[in-house]
Amino acid sequence: MDRPSFLIHAEEAESAAKRHGVSVVNLLPLLVNPAKPLARPPISKFPVSAVGLGSSGRIFVGVNVEFPGLPLHHSIHAEQFLVTNLTLNSEPNLRHFSVSAAPCGHCRQFLQEIRDAPDIKILITDPNAFRDAKEEDGYVRLESILPHRFGPNDLLERDVPLLLEPHDNRLTLLGVTNGHVDSDLKLTALSAANRSYAPYSRCPSGVALVDCEGRVYRGWYMESAAYNPSLGPVQAALVDYVANGGGGGFERIVGAVLVEKRDAVVRQEHTARMLLQVIAPKCDFEVFHC
Ligand SMILES: [Zn+2]
Repeated sequence: MDRPSFLIHAEEAESAAKRHGVSVVNLLPLLVNPAKPLARPPISKFPVSAVGLGSSGRIFVGVNVEFPGLPLHHSIHAEQFLVTNLTLNSEPNLRHFSVSAAPCGHCRQFLQEIRDAPDIKILITDPNAFRDAKEEDGYVRLESILPHRFGPNDLLERDVPLLLEPHDNRLTLLGVTNGHVDSDLKLTALSAANRSYAPYSRCPSGVALVDCEGRVYRGWYMESAAYNPSLGPVQAALVDYVANGGGGGFERIVGAVLVEKRDAVVRQEHTARMLLQVIAPKCDFEVFHC
């Protein structure tokens, strides 16, 4: 664990905690600073890292990612990266995370999509944060920094699966393939769309990316009850690229497929095309409907 990574397996986390003489929960803040160099903030020059413990015992890292040439709202915040990293690895819950700077309002809102969000415990390593509110172990409950929340309970039935909970949108591709086998990229994007969390608009979508070495990445659209903090499918796939792509620049992405519903009221196509044109000008972009 000398080199920071985006995913630490449970046994490795246990042994690292033992080495430091702390519990796994108290290991999280010790990993925040070493993870900061993984951030990509060319605009703000303000790296943020978030380190969370999943219910499986695995540790996940998130960092902020910014895109020169695009409006700021395309940025990925460290907490959103962390949650995306959990979903990409089918981690069903997040109860603790530590982060280098106080979560912004946008992220406090995005986290509401996790079951029992008010009980998520957060430790901010910035010594200036929450001096008065700190509990004994240094963690504060999300509810204490976002009281009177607006979240899924305001808009959805209680039995609707939330962001980290397993669900299958049961989408199939429209159109005839003329007997050709569907490309891997297309099927990966379809499978991503089937895991998309879009309970508010019911317009799920998924993206698959391929880099110049043929490695494939995927991500899916994730909505927020407050709409604006929702994370687009290209951003989610870029989380996979940053976490598993070996550290290269986005210009190494040469192909992309988006799968979304035809005539959907919330469409990703135009934003996805623009985003990819700016960050990966050589990227071939295709859209298929389901
Ligand atoms: Zn944020």
